[in-house]
Amino acid sequence: MRTPSLLAIAVLFASTAGAQSPAARGRLSAHWEELTAADFREAITRAQGTCLLPFGIMEKHGPHLPLGNDLLNVRYAALHAAEQEYAVVFPEYYFGQIFEAKHEPGTVAYSRGLQLQLLQETTDEMARNGCKKIVIVNGHGGNGSLLPYFAQTQLEAPHDYVVYVQGLPPSGPGEPKHRSNPATDMHAGESETSTSMIARADLVHLERASQESGADQARVKLPDGLYTGIWWYARFPNHYAGEGAVASRELGEFETKAWINAIVQAIRAVKADQESLRLQNEFYERSKHPLDTPQ
Ligand SMILES: [Zn+2]
Repeated sequence: MRTPSLLAIAVLFASTAGAQSPAARGRLSAHWEELTAADFREAITRAQGTCLLPFGIMEKHGPHLPLGNDLLNVRYAALHAAEQEYAVVFPEYYFGQIFEAKHEPGTVAYSRGLQLQLLQETTDEMARNGCKKIVIVNGHGGNGSLLPYFAQTQLEAPHDYVVYVQGLPPSGPGEPKHRSNPATDMHAGESETSTSMIARADLVHLERASQESGADQARVKLPDGLYTGIWWYARFPNHYAGEGAVASRELGEFETKAWINAIVQAIRAVKADQESLRLQNEFYERSKHPLDTPQ
């Protein structure tokens, strides 16, 4: 690499590359916070206005996983998906529903009103910056009611963007056999711990996973379909559900790949979706004068 001709080529390449846009060079980061203002504009164009909001949480994850486990895992999956199908990825976001873990150290539980207001202002700000298709990628089970509700409430008043919610992917065909009971493998158990072994193996303390019980204590007995907020604490007071100790990299690789895949498919589907915004606009318009809606 010391020959003059190679150096000349390198200099020529560098000067040509300098004249090109980052997108043309294919080196545009997917991380919102890593882009310059000018590159951001290009990133939005390249993403066709599609942005991801990976949604984590700060809560106990059994005796063996980090507080930010969901945030770390969801960002790992979302950023890898954006490598395959470009989208702009919003910075760390963990302001979700986690009241049921307020009795455990390290939990950050924002109030109900603030959760909704902050999420609304975040998506509004994303849209003001060109993210007209926002995919909230959920990484936290406790957001399972919040996020569809948030998406539903986008119909309350007109928005010039669409909110989509990508949930945790269901297990797919070919999944390695689980060693624990899938019915209670819900929080810091075999599946989640396996996924963490791929995203951040250095933060998984597998040897501590049996220090507490993740068994279902089933302390409240109610018929199916009858809901009460204390249900989770009634079943899993250690904020641990399942058996993290039997986690494996093999299962983690499978589940992480399936998750990344699901997000890639979501990005592609959202980019192709021209109907949602059109129908939203039609709906908002008709909502202003419902008596004129054809019957
Ligand atoms: Zn979790």
